[in-house]
Amino acid sequence: MEMEEEIPIFAINAYLYCPYRYYIEYVKGQFSTNEHVEEGRYIDEKKSKKAQTKGYKRRQGIFVHSNSLGIYGFVDEVIKTDEKTVIVETKKGNATKPFKNDVLQLVAYLICYCETFDEDIKKVVGRLHYVGSEKKFEVKADTELVSRLREILREMRRIADEVPQPRYNKKHCSPCSLLDICMPSAKKNGQNLVRKVTPHSYKPPIFLSSQGAFVGRAGESIVISHSGEELLKAHFSEIGTLYLMGNVQISSQALKLLVQNAIPIVFTDLNGALSAMCTGAVPKNVFLRLKQLEIYKDQEKRLCLAKKIVLGKVRNQVFVLTKKSLLRGEEKAKFKELERAINNCWNFDELLGIEGVSANTYFEIYKRAFEPIWNFNERNRRPPKDPINALLSFGYTLLHNTVLSVLVGIGFEPLLGVLHTDHYGRFALALDLMEEFRPIIVDQLVLSLVNLRHIKPSDFIENIQGSFVLTDRGRKKFLEHYKDRLETKHHHPVLNTSIEYLRIIEVQARLFEKCILGEVGEYTPFVVTK
Ligand code: SF4
Repeated sequence: MEMEEEIPIFAINAYLYCPYRYYIEYVKGQFSTNEHVEEGRYIDEKKSKKAQTKGYKRRQGIFVHSNSLGIYGFVDEVIKTDEKTVIVETKKGNATKPFKNDVLQLVAYLICYCETFDEDIKKVVGRLHYVGSEKKFEVKADTELVSRLREILREMRRIADEVPQPRYNKKHCSPCSLLDICMPSAKKNGQNLVRKVTPHSYKPPIFLSSQGAFVGRAGESIVISHSGEELLKAHFSEIGTLYLMGNVQISSQALKLLVQNAIPIVFTDLNGALSAMCTGAVPKNVFLRLKQLEIYKDQEKRLCLAKKIVLGKVRNQVFVLTKKSLLRGEEKAKFKELERAINNCWNFDELLGIEGVSANTYFEIYKRAFEPIWNFNERNRRPPKDPINALLSFGYTLLHNTVLSVLVGIGFEPLLGVLHTDHYGRFALALDLMEEFRPIIVDQLVLSLVNLRHIKPSDFIENIQGSFVLTDRGRKKFLEHYKDRLETKHHHPVLNTSIEYLRIIEVQARLFEKCILGEVGEYTPFVVTK
């Protein structure tokens, strides 16, 4: 399927730099910035100011378009004299000779300019200006370059069908702003493949549950205040997701700053129940959604993925119980048997049955970790009938929202799952991908909060129906510790490095995406082993 729509000219440069980069930005519709991208933008702004102050006779930011090539863009600068027209393209680098990708980008501008303004291409030249080295090179749209450009455009239009495999190349990948989205593979010890991500790019979420708090904007930062007192000021680049719980206000300016920078804002009630989510522009990745639908209809592939998800959850449940020394010999054997049953099962009814048995077995053992004072005898919900169930339900709701915001940001259709069935308004895919994280993020957190007495019986209110909810103080404590939990680092086997749980959720969602798109063979759930 060749993509028909017009291509922005700067995307040609992205494609030539790395085809997979173009695929991420213009097929998946995902963008990310880093210091290199920002430096490029800064140079554009600076150049624009310089032109205005010195009053040179030239025009900038001119829209140009080519019907014959199906491309469009904005020319940096046009200098016109009686003899010739010069199209200037400015780059930030230190190049001492012109890069091929920059040359072809400029040729595209030359063709577009001549088509748009009906000028003779023989009288129009291009000038590549590298700010770092102060070098300038002249470029002409000769036959060879024009035919190369046509060939490149054909390749670009076919990319959705011929997805390139991203391979790690230090020179290109280490400054690439899309490294965390791309996760290119690299050789480890000359043998196994590992995937690369940026070592330190954790952005903590903010959970705001102070009733009456206000989120405003000051420049490129958001400012959180209450009753006129400033509680927190943070630059947008330091924020992962903003959770606004209950009666909390946000200004339209702050909202704009966050969504323009692809920072999700999640609106919930005080119990974490989702009211709304803002994630910026509507995701453009129609190919991912179509593939999701394809897999949804393919019972065999769907069952295969669902089994991986259940297996991941069961293995992490076993890890939690083992770490707390709660597992007895016969119970270990039962989980081994359940794992075998999952691997061998043939249909969804069977899988759901095994999952149910596993959950019951797990909670029968998990409850032994709590003192009788907590009265935790079984897993129950809607409403939770004891404090531990109230904590588990609150934790799972938070985890659900965390996973959902990651999935929506990537461009998944969150209502289409593989294990959980379609239900009106149910984010089945978020429920699926949170399964492997329930035991290691929420269940372990509840265990340590209660057993270390960070949370006490006085942190709960029992209402007249006999259900339990956290007090304001208890909720704040839980949120602080949940945030810390997301920040806890763990070794990720596919990356062969330690990263925060929140980033592990993102990595798993991207691996799931790669699996759905056919870029990797199978999905491997995240399982903690030590
Ligand atoms: S990280 Fe490397 S392979 Fe991936 S898009 Fe960037 S340059 Fe291409």
